Amino acid sequence: MRPKIIVHGGAGDIVDEHLNAHLSGCKEAIEIGWAILDQGGTSLTAIEHSIRILEDNPVFDAGRGSYLNQDGFVEMDAMVMKGDGLNIGAVAGVSQIRNPISLAIQILHDSKHNMLSGQGALKFAQTLNLEECEPNWFITEYTHNIWKKEINKSRKYGTVGCVALDNYGNIAAGTSTGGTKHKETGRIGDTPLVGCGTYADNTTAGVSATGDGEAIMKVVLSKLACDLTLTETSVEHATNKSIQILNSRTRSQAGLIMIDNKGNLGCAFNTPRMSRAWIDNQGKIKAFIEP
Ligand code: ASP
Repeated sequence: MRPKIIVHGGAGDIVDEHLNAHLSGCKEAIEIGWAILDQGGTSLTAIEHSIRILEDNPVFDAGRGSYLNQDGFVEMDAMVMKGDGLNIGAVAGVSQIRNPISLAIQILHDSKHNMLSGQGALKFAQTLNLEECEPNWFITEYTHNIWKKEINKSRKYGTVGCVALDNYGNIAAGTSTGGTKHKETGRIGDTPLVGCGTYADNTTAGVSATGDGEAIMKVVLSKLACDLTLTETSVEHATNKSIQILNSRTRSQAGLIMIDNKGNLGCAFNTPRMSRAWIDNQGKIKAFIEP
């Protein structure tokens, strides 16, 4: 099977000054993931490396550049899922781990549990020597200004994610986020909740979602979109319908990317903008964000 990969850099009111950085960041992430898949690497390895690039890029709301909570520090969530055995690794409310996606993958491989949070997640990461950073390392001038001025109270989301299908027919999906602006300390969003921010099942599809986490949870958006591939005639219909359902049931906003088990790619959102990049059928990188 020919491999496939798609990434997103979040759906929301991405500010004009960030458009180029979003596009170049998504392209860089897709290049890394594609190189891994093209050389016969697994979908899980590809999504890890793509998402690490996005986490390290301060323009995205994940890793360094995550939005600050009400108390002025970052709390990040991340999740990965594999479509062959439905294995899950998720982490919630971590503040010091440079790449939460890698911690989620270690939880998938090495923990008897699906999800770890807060201090316990940090302790687990320390046994594996995952890179830790001081809380201030995650804060950028942009995120600090938003927090300090309490501006931009409008709904603006971020989050990064990646879905890949490898040569062996296995789908993996991953999502990583700093969550929403000015969230209450201790708030956990949709990202690490199975079926909400992330889902992967080789019998249907893989999905990574972004947007209003509280609304995404209500319709279990990623699982909903995967299941819709069974009844809708195309990935385009399945992704659009899942966003229509979210909109009609919650009156809120979100976006998602998908790859189905036949290798079809899709993306849908009802936010003003969503940054994304993918590899087309000719093996070329495509990246897009609404102008
Ligand atoms: N869905 C994320 C959350 O609610 C935010 C986002 O996608 O930007 O935590």
